[in-house]
Amino acid sequence: MLGMWLRNVRGRTPGNLPGLRSPEGDVRGSRGGLTTSPPPLVLPQNESVPEPDSPQASMEIEITPLPPLPVAARLLEFGVTLARADQQLLMLDYDGTLAPFRVERMEAVPYPGVKEYLATLIATGTQVVLISGRMSKEVAALLGMTPAPEIWGCHGWERLAGGEYTRIPLAPKQEERIFKAGYTLKNEGFGSRLEFKHGSIALHWRGADEAEQRAIEIAGLRTFEPVSGPDLRLHRFDGGLELRATGRDKGLVVRELLQRIEPNTPAAYLGDDQTDEDAFRALAGRGLGVLVRSEPRDTAATIWLRPPEELLQFFDLWCKSTHQP
Ligand SMILES: [Mg+2]
Repeated sequence: MLGMWLRNVRGRTPGNLPGLRSPEGDVRGSRGGLTTSPPPLVLPQNESVPEPDSPQASMEIEITPLPPLPVAARLLEFGVTLARADQQLLMLDYDGTLAPFRVERMEAVPYPGVKEYLATLIATGTQVVLISGRMSKEVAALLGMTPAPEIWGCHGWERLAGGEYTRIPLAPKQEERIFKAGYTLKNEGFGSRLEFKHGSIALHWRGADEAEQRAIEIAGLRTFEPVSGPDLRLHRFDGGLELRATGRDKGLVVRELLQRIEPNTPAAYLGDDQTDEDAFRALAGRGLGVLVRSEPRDTAATIWLRPPEELLQFFDLWCKSTHQP
């Protein structure tokens, strides 16, 4: 199976390997190192190379740090790790990552092929966990998989796993202020734009024209800002504002999931939005962060994929790396 994975990578350069870009561009590593060969060393004319053991040599030798691994090499290395491991952990955001955005939020079903790949990965032993800002039951309904994978909803404030639903309780003051903020906006006529969740309230403007979007944003800021503080934070996301209880986020869920598995288990997190940056940071140095988005942006992720084609290619590579014949 590893041979199949390698065949997908061999013979291609990082620039033409589909989906194997870093967030900064086609041929750069995530920390800015060039993935192309460094320029040849050219000595100035009339200068000779000092003998290695001469005093001059010892004073002038400068050690240049090696550039980070090329993006394709990172994935090759990750694929080898996947193939060798007994366990693998794949963590996924939902909206914008596995499913395209829709104005009608309950119409956001996965890209064709996603469910089939996830079902194969689960069947062949990969631990698949979804971590979403949505309520977990909504994600389960939209995903439509039986059995459903483990789903953490509301940025880690609730969990649906093996048919069991659990909530982490909020402090009463947090709950009360979230409810009041929602009630205020509902009274101002924004009820259809609100999403009441456990631990947060989101105000959406997706699908609104520019003027309406601005009006929603102003109303949201006017309501959320006065009640935000150390225990409730105002966040911007791709398509709205959210007032969210502090204490849980996607990064914390990633850290908890990593604690459940053996230290060397290969792990990846795929996400698209600002809320996924907590998860990318939690995974840094421990796994592969993958930004899934039509355009790159500043991110703590390791590589960038354009959905849906490159997302499906990534799942395909994962399947081929872990499939037991
Ligand atoms: Mg998302």
